[in-house]
Amino acid sequence: MTPQSGVRLLIVGPPGAGKGTQAARISEQLGVPTISTGDIFRRNIAEQTELGKQVKAIVDNGDYVPDELTNELVKDRLEQADAHGGFLLDGYPRTPDQVAYLDGLLASHGHVLDAVLQLVADPEELIRRLTLRASQEGRADDSEDAIRHRQEVYLRETQPLLRIFRERELLVEIDGLGSMDEVAHRISAALSSRGLGASAA
Ligand code: ADP
Repeated sequence: MTPQSGVRLLIVGPPGAGKGTQAARISEQLGVPTISTGDIFRRNIAEQTELGKQVKAIVDNGDYVPDELTNELVKDRLEQADAHGGFLLDGYPRTPDQVAYLDGLLASHGHVLDAVLQLVADPEELIRRLTLRASQEGRADDSEDAIRHRQEVYLRETQPLLRIFRERELLVEIDGLGSMDEVAHRISAALSSRGLGASAA
């Protein structure tokens, strides 16, 4: 028996909050794949696939890939066998249309979302950390302005989505400041309290 089978989660969090690391841990704990639309697009661009060629200019510009294309991609990915028993989606849905599409897709399989994990961190603290890291790594292109801009874009774009999930009582806010272990522990505890946890590891 796999008690965690069927866990369907989203993870959202600001740039620099360690979302990728936490996503990998959750995936491992729950035995579900992390599906990152950004990673899929980047891989397709690197491999120069048909999809990659279609989206390269858009992604390079930092714009959103059109919903139809993104939705189709997610549908195909979620239909693969490893996602039948659950998933952790990262970077999708990002627009209200994508939320509606995902709802329909899950409903057509008799599934629902179980929770939306939101890593919460003070933007000023993240800007301070990211600026320090950029200077230590000598990344002059990563100016404080650029870093600040990305935090602003994140906040602006995610607010409407977070509102939708809060109304559905799916939103689980996790304090994202602290060590990777501390944050991971908070996520495990939050999932367990919702009956979504893995073992009491
Ligand atoms: P970030 O670089 O902000 O962390 P991601 O790695 O999630 O973003 O995605 C990288 C790029 O891929 C985005 O800037 C966008 O062009 C495209 N992309 C990823 N997910 C989506 C989505 N759900 N809808 C539209 N475009 C997306």
